[in-house]
Amino acid sequence: MTRVLLTGGAGYIGSHTAVALCQSGFEPVLLDDFSNSVPAVLDRLARITGRAFPCEHGDAADVSFVRQVIERHAIEAVVHFAGFKAVGESVAEPLKYFRNNVGSALGVLDAMRETSCRALVFSSTATVYGDPDRVPVNESAPRRYENPYAQTKGMVEDILAATARSDPSWCFGVLRYFNPVGAHPSGLIGEDPHGTPNNLMPYISQVAIGRRPALQIFGGDYATPDGTGVRDYIHVSDLAAGHVAALRHLLERREGLIVNLGSGQGHSVLEVLRAYERACGHAIAHQLAPRRPGDVACYYADPGLAHSLLGWRAQRTLDEMCADAWRWQSGNPNGYHGG
Ligand code: NAD
Ligand code: UDP
Repeated sequence: MTRVLLTGGAGYIGSHTAVALCQSGFEPVLLDDFSNSVPAVLDRLARITGRAFPCEHGDAADVSFVRQVIERHAIEAVVHFAGFKAVGESVAEPLKYFRNNVGSALGVLDAMRETSCRALVFSSTATVYGDPDRVPVNESAPRRYENPYAQTKGMVEDILAATARSDPSWCFGVLRYFNPVGAHPSGLIGEDPHGTPNNLMPYISQVAIGRRPALQIFGGDYATPDGTGVRDYIHVSDLAAGHVAALRHLLERREGLIVNLGSGQGHSVLEVLRAYERACGHAIAHQLAPRRPGDVACYYADPGLAHSLLGWRAQRTLDEMCADAWRWQSGNPNGYHGG
């Protein structure tokens, strides 16, 4: 069984990917510093899969720590999720983002260089496209960084490209995620943001459960069918399956790739709100608010390359994303913190 190290594996996407990898015959090993997650996720993963995953507590930027983890577990491939992801915080505290997002990638690569492990999948983001010239967005669209977070992801993409050029034994899979939402259908794992959620779906979830009074809809005057912003929402379990497909590709073909992982469908804020109301069975308070600075009107993926290269396609509908988000939220009103 191929052992795969998931840095940031206790987080939202990492935990779902651990389940998908385990169920596809891989052996996940988690590494996390718990800066944005909690060890309680490990029990939940064991309940879902019937397996206790090893989890190493530490910093992905620490080269000797990561090297020891790779050697101890005979790791053959890495999925590098570890990093910070809040766009607004990256504007306020850019150094924190450059240090952790670039530093953790360098730490993992340097650690891998000291071992024979040469395959890595990297969590990039559609945010690297900024405000695209046209939709759907394909992988050849220019990268335009509108905030330090996007820049850190673009920098790591460039570091991977240069590293691959320097030595052909490396192979890297860069996955540009669109908007991951939803939760595992068991309702045992899901997104558990600290403080006020920045993103739409967790915000709606907290209004639906009564933790917040109302959703603010940021802008009703965009040039979109109903005036609200349009995004490409992808179920986190579909995203997890995309990692399995990418890893198989890297390990079997030993060739790198850069692909979008999105559904290829755009949904407006109001469409998401209505779908969530159907899922939870009651109306969700909302009000129109000014546009959020830096937001673009509309973007969604051209996911064609992921399909032709990896045979992967998002399967789950917006209604399923909302139903699973609601199962997680209603079963765990305070996330992993109980109560
Ligand atoms: P998350 O915060 O839930 O998970 C990230 C995990 O990494 C957390 O468990 C955190 O504790 C850990 N971590 C952070 N820095 C670390 C370090 N230096 N060493 C060890 N562990 C560290 O976030 P997520 O939503 O699961 O995102 C995973 C990755 O995907 C991130 O790199 C993020 O930038 C990227 N991404 C996320 C989204 C999204 O909307 N969620 C979209 C595009 C890309
Ligand atoms: N959005 C909103 N209210 C919120 C959070 C988000 O109206 O409280 C809108 C936002 O303007 C965008 C969409 O929902 O049009 C998705 O935003 P999110 O932050 O989830 O993703 P991103 O903007 O990073 O794609």
